[in-house]
Amino acid sequence: MSKDNPLLGEWTAPFSVPPLHAIEPDHFAAAFEQALAEHRGEIDAIASSRAEPDFGNTVAALERSGRLLSRVSNVFYVLAGADTNDAIQAIERDMAPLLARHWNEIHLNEALFARIDSVHRRVDGLGLTPEQARVLERYHALFRRAGAGLDAAAKERLKEIGDRLASLGTAFGQNVLADEQAYILPLADEDLAGLPDFARDAARGDAEERGLAGHAVTLSRSSVEPFLQFAARRELREKAFRAWIARGDNGGATDNNATIAELTALRDEKARLLGYPSFADYRLDDTMAKTPAAVTGLLDAVWAPARRRVAEERDALQEIVTAEGGNFRLAPWDWRYYAEKLRKARFDLDESEIKPYLPLEAIIEAAFYTANRLFGLTFTPRADVPIYHPDVRVWEVAGPDGRHVGVFFGDYFARPSKRSGAWMTSLRDQERLDGEVRPLVLNVMNFNKGAKGEPTLLSFDDARTLFHEFGHGLHGLMSEGTYPMISGTGVLQDFVELPSQLYEHWLDRPEILERFARHYKTGEPMPRALMDRLIASRTFNQGFLTTEYLGSSYVDLDFHLGGAKDAHKVEAETRERMQMPEEVVLRHRPPHFGHIFSGDGYAAGYYSYLWSEVLDADAFNAFEETGDVFDPAVAGRLREHIYAAGGAREPAEAYQAFRGRMPAVDPLLRKRGLVDEAA
Ligand SMILES: [Zn+2]
Repeated sequence: MSKDNPLLGEWTAPFSVPPLHAIEPDHFAAAFEQALAEHRGEIDAIASSRAEPDFGNTVAALERSGRLLSRVSNVFYVLAGADTNDAIQAIERDMAPLLARHWNEIHLNEALFARIDSVHRRVDGLGLTPEQARVLERYHALFRRAGAGLDAAAKERLKEIGDRLASLGTAFGQNVLADEQAYILPLADEDLAGLPDFARDAARGDAEERGLAGHAVTLSRSSVEPFLQFAARRELREKAFRAWIARGDNGGATDNNATIAELTALRDEKARLLGYPSFADYRLDDTMAKTPAAVTGLLDAVWAPARRRVAEERDALQEIVTAEGGNFRLAPWDWRYYAEKLRKARFDLDESEIKPYLPLEAIIEAAFYTANRLFGLTFTPRADVPIYHPDVRVWEVAGPDGRHVGVFFGDYFARPSKRSGAWMTSLRDQERLDGEVRPLVLNVMNFNKGAKGEPTLLSFDDARTLFHEFGHGLHGLMSEGTYPMISGTGVLQDFVELPSQLYEHWLDRPEILERFARHYKTGEPMPRALMDRLIASRTFNQGFLTTEYLGSSYVDLDFHLGGAKDAHKVEAETRERMQMPEEVVLRHRPPHFGHIFSGDGYAAGYYSYLWSEVLDADAFNAFEETGDVFDPAVAGRLREHIYAAGGAREPAEAYQAFRGRMPAVDPLLRKRGLVDEAA
């Protein structure tokens, strides 16, 4: 039986890559069944052991358990994301609740938690290495935060809250979606004034999708934002904008305000059951930031300069309005429109002018070159490794000493079987609990493939995405940990974007652009003037973008600092307290703030985008300070304490080991152009 199922057999391809070419959807049901049963057996054996709990028979044993399950899940989720079909989607729907229940049962297994807790209480006398102590700490936190150790009544209540939160989150998202689907703003020919071809095409597509002739605007960000940016008819911009910011806030059947009140009350209750004063305290305890006060400190440090900058930007936009004879005060629905005019006047950047200098092959080479200069890595194409789709490319990665580091898979092109977006994932993570296991890491993108015989040309944003995901990839590839739980990208949520966002900085450098951004036909380097305009344009409109983002971050925190919250009141009070300019509406108004309400992924966590950006700007500054963006000493510390270190230490400790101090905010302010360069 297992001999016929490649998921359960031995993997004999180079680097023990799974036989991806031979795996069929039918193989998964049996493989998952066997993997879950094996894991359950392993967990039972650990939990019911008569031996006195110690690190080896409890924590290391947990780290050794579930290997077949990771093996099967990793392959499955790679395919579910990058090369799915109806059969795989059906398995995904079937497996989601089974896997959720499986992990929930483990995390609420009292006998198991009693053993972890017993080891945890005696940690000082056990002579553990720092890495072992960290793994123990992470297991203890994982179980405790799931409710292990609480009495039966509290556990029951937590479960009720969890179920109710899940359905409220789903309802929240569906209400927003219903409002988006219910709205359409049809455009007559004269309403298209100002819209460039790509926006007209999109508006035609939006109308067609709703079964209408002609053009239309919908309330999805990708439809309404270009309209607000380009549409010359002011009253239509106002109409679309008002509908856009009223999603989930209409007083009718899809209104989310009562949902928010109930959600915030239940989250508060959950946090208190788990021993925290508020949901924000509960969430942040498991992050690098640690406390609401630390998050507020960060937001405040950026707020003041952003507030100054946005006032200057507003004045510059008002000047254009007045110069054009507009006898009105700039309103929120005017911002994007006049900002676009100013952008065009200042930088005159055209995508079609840039793309010929950014062929995909050159940008892949640039990412490899950067890794070589920084870390001595080399990348050799391999044609003998199994792949799941003919577009997937494979490289073996070696270290400076020629040692095998891992395998890197690049899957770059959009296709119907792939979900949208870009991501890094893995078929196997690094560890060395029972001998060295090297990682199999993937980058999955959605670039549009060049026409037959033509190269694929990237936008600058595409190129940045490639560098970003490659940074995540290196975090997985360069890992040198012992324990699976904290190897590679197994770090806290507000730290995981550091290796990826940091890597983007090299793409902006003349050292890279001059060498790799060459015209695909002539081989000429990108003209210096174009490069300068491209880089300078990155700080444009940052006062606006930073202010609308920070507004949402403050609101997120305010919602989670205790009790049920009235959405309108929180929004109004936050705006008042921060003296938010009238022309700037929150990036996400509470009634449609899906990041924090349709699931809790970013609840009390919306700040983390900015937190990571502080880290990456400050980390890159460590190179700039030396005058060499490839400085070997800084690169060595970066490798040791960040890219190779996984989650072996508290992130603050790891960062200080790399930088010699905690991160400063100034490099971020300069990167966003919120303070003058000379400062
Ligand atoms: Zn990322």
